[in-house]
Amino acid sequence: MTRTLPRTRIAVLGSTNMDLVAYVPRAPGRGETVTGREFRTVPGGKGANQAVAAARAGAEVSMIGAVGSDDFGARLRAALAESGVDTGLLRTVDGPSGTAHIVVDDDGANAIVVVPGANASVTGLTPEDEARIAASDALLLQLELPLDAVAAGAEAARRHGVRTILTPSPVQPLPHDLLALVDLLVPNEHEASALTGVADPRAAVEELLRDVPEVVVTLGAAGSLYAARGARPVAVPARRVRAVDTTAAGDTFTGALAVALGEGRPVPDALAWASAAASLSVRRAGASSSMPYRSEIDAL
Ligand code: ATP
Repeated sequence: MTRTLPRTRIAVLGSTNMDLVAYVPRAPGRGETVTGREFRTVPGGKGANQAVAAARAGAEVSMIGAVGSDDFGARLRAALAESGVDTGLLRTVDGPSGTAHIVVDDDGANAIVVVPGANASVTGLTPEDEARIAASDALLLQLELPLDAVAAGAEAARRHGVRTILTPSPVQPLPHDLLALVDLLVPNEHEASALTGVADPRAAVEELLRDVPEVVVTLGAAGSLYAARGARPVAVPARRVRAVDTTAAGDTFTGALAVALGEGRPVPDALAWASAAASLSVRRAGASSSMPYRSEIDAL
């Protein structure tokens, strides 16, 4: 892609969490204490991760949501700004920021507790939020904010003719009238199967297309599957890379996909570009810190 294109404008309505990660030989059982090897605090939250991915991929990105009045809030805001995300609509509310308490064992398996904190205060849109969505090419939504906020965002985007891209994570039953406001749904294969009760991704896609006009199911190292109503599904291969850390691969994929689609790239090109971005992120350790910049994606 050339840089002469106008920059895509993306609004993200979503969560911002501080990930508190303890690395342990094995996870503790109930009532047990184990000694960990290392502890890290890492800015995260699915909304913030998608915002960073899209900004690094070259879009003008606005983050809509809330952080707390604690130290984490200030760090989360600064981390977004460092990647070029506009945080003017990210509110600071009294109380703690959202946190994700993550235990990673030596097998790389993790157990996670998310405490929504400030994210729970986001139950609707301000007029400024709606104006920013109206001025955007796409709205990115996930499910780490209260569903009322997600619905309000999708309704605003539909009113203004803005493309809505929803990542249904953490997966939960979704009302048909919310899905009807979504233009592109991007579940991973587990989410696709949980939403439909169908294990096979191709069959799950067929089911999802009843509610949503376009679906991309991400399949990890197996790539992704794109389908639009009335057309044959297209398999998009993943790039073969040595995976070091797949955390936030899906958010990198979705952020980059939104940028490429916003620039008017044909869907197959946009999917290949998103897949290149995600493959770069899995080659490096870290969540948002491992997300690639546009020049790296273009170079691939
Ligand atoms: P996460 O929850 O960690 O963000 P996810 O489960 O939402 O990830 P995945 O389906 O694992 O998302 O991955 C998203 C995309 O990232 C895939 O469609 C693929 O393009 C790329 N990807 C993931 N894992 C690999 C891998 N091991 N090698 C190459 N590409 C990968």
